[in-house]
Formats: sequence, structure tokens, C-alpha cells
Amino acid sequence: MYTFSNIAHLQNDLRAGNVTCQNLVQDFLVRIKEKKHLNIYLETFDNSALAQAKKVDEKIKAGTQGALAGVVLALKDNICYKGHRVSASSKILEHFTSLYSATVVERLLAQDAIIIGRTNCDEFAMGSSNENSAYGPVLNPVNEKTVPGGSSGGSAAAVAAHLCHAALGSDTGGSIRQPASFCGVVGLKPTYGRVSRWGLLAYASSFDQIGPLTHSVEDAALIMEIISGKDEHDSTSSSKKVDAYSSDINIQNKKLKIAYIKDCLDNPSLDAEIKTGIEHIIHKLQQQGHVVEGVDFKELDYLVPTYYVLTTAEASSNLSRYGGVPYGYRSAQASDLESMYKKTRSEGFGKEVQRRIMLGTFVLSAGYYDAYYGKAQQVRRVVRDKTNAILKNYDLILTPATPATAFEHGTKGADPIKMYLEDIYTVQANIAGIPAISIPAGLTKNKMPFGLQLMAQPFAEHFLLAASKYVETLL
Ligand code: GLN
Repeated sequence: MYTFSNIAHLQNDLRAGNVTCQNLVQDFLVRIKEKKHLNIYLETFDNSALAQAKKVDEKIKAGTQGALAGVVLALKDNICYKGHRVSASSKILEHFTSLYSATVVERLLAQDAIIIGRTNCDEFAMGSSNENSAYGPVLNPVNEKTVPGGSSGGSAAAVAAHLCHAALGSDTGGSIRQPASFCGVVGLKPTYGRVSRWGLLAYASSFDQIGPLTHSVEDAALIMEIISGKDEHDSTSSSKKVDAYSSDINIQNKKLKIAYIKDCLDNPSLDAEIKTGIEHIIHKLQQQGHVVEGVDFKELDYLVPTYYVLTTAEASSNLSRYGGVPYGYRSAQASDLESMYKKTRSEGFGKEVQRRIMLGTFVLSAGYYDAYYGKAQQVRRVVRDKTNAILKNYDLILTPATPATAFEHGTKGADPIKMYLEDIYTVQANIAGIPAISIPAGLTKNKMPFGLQLMAQPFAEHFLLAASKYVETLL
């Protein structure tokens, strides 16, 4: 099997004829079968992947290949790929086939990437452990007793287990960064509006963003460069110019000014080893002459409630389209229209999705709208303003990505609040709409990875990637 280090090396090897795209795909398909018990892929796209590999091999021979030639990618099962199934890991979309491709998929294929399959995730991207999938949990390849994180758990695990070169996930409240942290890979959530959401099955539309999971910051930069940019199908996509993220990934001897949030490091939920690890990184940066200072962020405790009020509200509206009429599962037990809706949705959605639809419907209901939804919108504005105020004085905000390392299967599922608190460090970036990355920051004594999170100003992806690459080499 070909040993992958990064996309640049892979492409050299492809050009030199040391390996072919068809070999790469065949090897991955074998390896995916060998690792079937991890439950990472819901389906591999053998025929289309091999056909694309053949086409790209010919292009490489002719010297006409695109920027992602030979890169074998996995898609989270909430990203549409024309003619292929997509289910959001839900029973309600079990046999659904996409009629069109997501813009990100079209852009990847146009640059000769190869899509090998769709990965397991929490149902409709709601969860932090991948245990909310209708198709069973994913095992973390680092330690199979533990969860890979969620909701893009399958995508992070696919990268960590070398079952693809890179993967796409989606991040509404941490679903790229938290699994990246748990599986020891890089995960980037772009600025809201940087990447088109066209063809992403919606969870909470004012938060959702697609982003890469990779082995290195450099690979993330290259993929970001391809998938970013204006899309006429998504009116929230920005027309701001996309920088050449993959060139000059370098802070050019700049002395960085970094804020770490004191309340995050002092939080009682933070694992002691992670705390020590992050403090160690802070000292290292200071030794290199960078300014790293603690700042207050008293709103920390409001982040998770704000996130769950707003996202469940949006989810209750987005998921109303799954009623058994235009597409998806329809209950066979129905006797009239009302029972058709009720039974379809009760049988088709899992417990967590049902909980969120009810919560979201409640916070939007006439009597409670002002007290919950309206209030949460106001808090969102405060969080955004305070975050931006910090980023006026500092280049970056630094926090742990997660309060602890990957936990064991079955330990948090019974208590939704415990599970929601997993998101304490990640949701700030989604509420504020800013870019954020998790990079592997070390291992605890029992060899479990944890991530360092960096956040930057809106649309500062190029700088964020450069700073992350610098920190990556420092570590
Ligand atoms: N864990 C968070 C949730 O359950 C994040 C989900 C996401 O980012 N899609 O909502």
C-alpha cells in the first residue's frame, strides 16, 4: 500500500509514475473492507471512483491534470453527490439518491479529486460522538473502545485510519473540529459564507459550513482553496476573493499576538493533562517571542445554551421537509394524512433529532419566542461583538478544542446536557461566524490525542492556515 504523507508528495509520485490513481483506489477499497468493523463508511462508490481514477491517470500521463489530481476523498453522508445515495445517517433518507451534486463536490471533481464513498455521522449532524447514527456507531481507530467524536466522526476516523487521503465534514457547532481533536487529525471550519452550502443537507442554516479533515495544515489549505468562493446557488456565500491559501503558507517571521481565553483554561470541565499541554504550547510560543496573553470572556457559560436554542429552532424548520411526501421514508402504518406525517416522522427520525425538533418548535412558539429565540439572537450579537473586539487587538484566539479526549462508547448518551457541554469551546466560532481550526496538539499519558483550537477574524483563512502551519511545526 502506498504510504501517504501529504498531497504535494503524492502528486510528485503520481507524476513520476511510482503509483497510479487506480492503484490508490483499489488499495483503499481493500483496506476499507479490512477495517469494516470500525463502521466508518456507509457505502463506497467503487464504480465511479475507479472510473474517475482511470480518467485522472490518463490526464496525468498527458500532463493536463487538475490541482487535486489523485487525491482520494471521503464525503460526510450529508453532502450530495449526483447519482449517489445520501442519508444524513438517518432512516428517513435511507434509500434516497441525490439528483445533483453539492457545489463543493463539483469543484473537487473539476480538479480531478476522486470521491471514494460516504462516511457515517450523527443523524442530521446532531451529536458529538457519532452514536446518533441510524447505522450504528463509529469506532475511533486510535482506540476502538472510544468514540471518534461527532458529528463528522466517520470523516475524521477515515482520515485517521488511512481509509482516504482527506475528507469533507460539516461544522455547525464543532462537528469538524471536535472529531479532528478526538482522532488526531486537522479539521478546519471556514468563515460562515466562505464555502457554499448548496447540496449540504441543512441542519442550522445560519451556522452550517463544510470544511476539510486532513493529515496536515498544508492539505487543508489546498482543499480550502478549491472548495471556497462565491456560488450563485447559495446567497449566503461570499463574493470576497479567495486567496491562494496553498501558496505562501508562512507567517514570514511575523511576531504573533495571541489571546487565550482564561475562562476556557480555568474551566472545571477541562481535563488536567490537556490543560498542561495547552499551557506548554503557550510557553513555547512565548519563548519564540510571540505575545500570548490571557483575556476574559465572561460569556463562556452562555455559549452552549445560545447555540442549542438557535440551532434547534433552525433545525425544526429545516427538517419539516421530511414528511414522507416528496421523498424519503414513508410509514406503511398510516391511515390518513395526519397519521402519515406523525408515523413517518416518529419512525424515521431518531431520538436526538426528535428532541431537537421539539425543542426548536418550543423556542419558536408564540408564547416563548421572545423569551428564548429572541433572547438567544441578542446573546448571539453580544458574543459576536465581544469576539470581534478580542480579534481587533489580537491576531488569533487560542483555546483547547475539547474539554477532554475521546470518551468511551455509551458513557454520555444517556445525558444530553453532558453531551451538549462537549461543545463548550467550539460553538463560539459558529456563533460569531469566524474561521477556526483544530490541530493535533499532543497525546495524553494513555496515548489519546487532543487538539489545539485557533480562531481568526472573518475571512482570514490564509493567515489562520499559515499560523497553524507554524504552530504545527513548533509542536
Ligand atoms: N455537537 C454539536 C451538536 O450536536 C455540533 C454539531 C455540528 O457541528 N454539526 O449540535
